[in-house]
Amino acid sequence: MRAKTKLIHGGIVGDETTGAVSTPIYQVSTYKQDAVGKHRGYEYSRTGNPTRHALEELIKDLEGGYAGFAFGSGMAATTSVMMMFNSGDHVVITDDVYGGTFRVLTKVLNRMGISSTFVDTSDVKNVEAAITENTKAVFLETPTNPLLKVTDIAEIAKFAKSKGLLTIVDNTFMTPYFQQPIALGADIVVHSATKYIGGHSDVVAGLVVVANEELATDMHFVQNSVGAVLGPQDSWLLIRGLRTLGLRMEETNSNAQRIAEFLEQHPSVGKVYYPGLVGHNGHELMKKQTKGFGGMISFDVGSAEKAEELIRKLRYFTLAESLGAVESLISVPAQMTHASIPAERRAELGIVDGLVRISVGIEDVEDLLEDIEQALGN
Ligand SMILES: *Cc1c(COP(=O)(O)O)cnc(C)c1O
Repeated sequence: MRAKTKLIHGGIVGDETTGAVSTPIYQVSTYKQDAVGKHRGYEYSRTGNPTRHALEELIKDLEGGYAGFAFGSGMAATTSVMMMFNSGDHVVITDDVYGGTFRVLTKVLNRMGISSTFVDTSDVKNVEAAITENTKAVFLETPTNPLLKVTDIAEIAKFAKSKGLLTIVDNTFMTPYFQQPIALGADIVVHSATKYIGGHSDVVAGLVVVANEELATDMHFVQNSVGAVLGPQDSWLLIRGLRTLGLRMEETNSNAQRIAEFLEQHPSVGKVYYPGLVGHNGHELMKKQTKGFGGMISFDVGSAEKAEELIRKLRYFTLAESLGAVESLISVPAQMTHASIPAERRAELGIVDGLVRISVGIEDVEDLLEDIEQALGN
């Protein structure tokens, strides 16, 4: 089955009992048992719910894994994955991961005795140097936010396997339509489904896919024990979002490529970060491990004032956090998502005050280009 077909025909299509083509929203907490200890597969909706199950089967198929799990947010998904580890365990993780991942590891999970070391995972040597005898996993995010740094998943996974470590990949930016970490050797994939998978800025959710039965048993045990599950209504919204993921990713990808090329030659724009540009240092690697470059672009307009002016003049780019929906969004990382990072560290990373990040939507690209052109002026 090819990618767009799998989005429609993967998982569980419709409802076996009624023939409903769309999986119904099973808005239910408990299930009638036929006799004591004899049920029809569902007992209580924290443990399992048919709508959530349909979503979990679909994401499992899309990522090519063994089992899928749906959570109340991307952070609930990541935290639940980390709850599979024990006090004393250590994780090596990409240094510019999503801020919420950094926060939960350094301010919450550390209190439970799970420690982490942040390194530039784009070079396997840094991962190797950070490993201790307590290391249990390598956690990757690729490409990263906002500078779109790329890590070689296959290379890290191969190395991790040789040391008996798990490889976990946050696949939010690429989605399974463009990047499939399990096929590249990863053991666990995490998503903020709030972004491209939901795709319409109307749901907060997280997904996990694991590669084998042992991890599936552990993950389900944690999911049921901790209980950070996704409700049936939101599960249904994600199934609905996934059906058009292919169309949306193709469109966001081609729009972003056009916009990045336009920005690259514009006199008022400094450095442009987009992995689809030949000059981007992750370009060749992305061509090897993904089927597209995504819809996230960061670029430097020179100063915080210029960034604010650009945002004020734009018509079609909404000033907001988040990303990956049908509408184009814009943000200023230094003042928004990355404001908590000290200014010197931000400068080291390249997150300068004039850096703006756009999440390219699926509007007509000519409108987006004209909008950027008028807002940048000359
Ligand atoms: C948004 C995001 C998260 C967190 O997901 P929520 O759904 O907001 O909890 C994790 N990783 C990445 C890459 C994200 O963009």
